[in-house]
Amino acid sequence: LTFQNVSYRYPGSQQGLHEVSFDIGPGELVAVIGPSGSGKSTLLKLVAGLETGYQGRIALAGQDMAGTPVHQRGIGMVFQTYALFPHLSVRDNVAYGLALRKMSTAQRHARAAELLEVVGLSDFAQRGVHQLSGGQQQRVALARALAIDPRALLLDEPLSALDASVRGHLRDQIRALQQQFGATTLLVTHDQEEALAMADRVAVLKEGRLLQIATPKDIYEMPNCRAVAEFVGLST
Ligand code: ATP
Ligand code: MG
Repeated sequence: LTFQNVSYRYPGSQQGLHEVSFDIGPGELVAVIGPSGSGKSTLLKLVAGLETGYQGRIALAGQDMAGTPVHQRGIGMVFQTYALFPHLSVRDNVAYGLALRKMSTAQRHARAAELLEVVGLSDFAQRGVHQLSGGQQQRVALARALAIDPRALLLDEPLSALDASVRGHLRDQIRALQQQFGATTLLVTHDQEEALAMADRVAVLKEGRLLQIATPKDIYEMPNCRAVAEFVGLST
């Protein structure tokens, strides 16, 4: 996943992203951290096609995202608050992204069952999502994101609505699945410990600019500017 001089301004606003450039290798997990309003979610939205009209280039496996319809981008997403469809069963939520594929209903259900097994929710397939706990709903969201065999996984604070015990467990599970699926992953988190524990590299954003991208160790031991040092120092 490549960002080349990506700039974006929200219409009628000065906020957005400025000249952001970096690469994420296949199967790599990059954690994006930075103060509130620094552009973390914006970065993910541009990849997903939820915001359009940016400058520069975003490419996934060599394919320019700007010219690629949203559903053909091969992206799985999980957000902070589980954006599951409340009127659908757990199984139909997981199968949702497969709707546009040339698959039979039986194949879609089989794929959903496979993924529900992966996240340990096989017994919940027929339930409505409102009958699940927050942690279970996030696992459904993860199963849904993975069901399409995404080339990239975009996770925007996927664990922050959960309590600490569930969060630790799910963190390990997400990391294991991400590696198993080999999905190139951008993980937004405000939890430094989470970034440290999960990421191959950490990207620090401030005011829409990328300050540094490096291994967790280097970010903490060799921050390249005062702002990075302060940011990682302040909140640990
Ligand atoms: P947080 O940690 O609070 O989620 P963030 O780093 O994800 O913050 P973004 O949501 O990417 O921040 O927002 C970056 C900047 O763009 C902020 O200043 C925000 O106010 C602004 N912004 C976000 N969405 C819009 C929008 N739809 N219209 C105008 N400005 C926006
Ligand atoms: Mg955000």
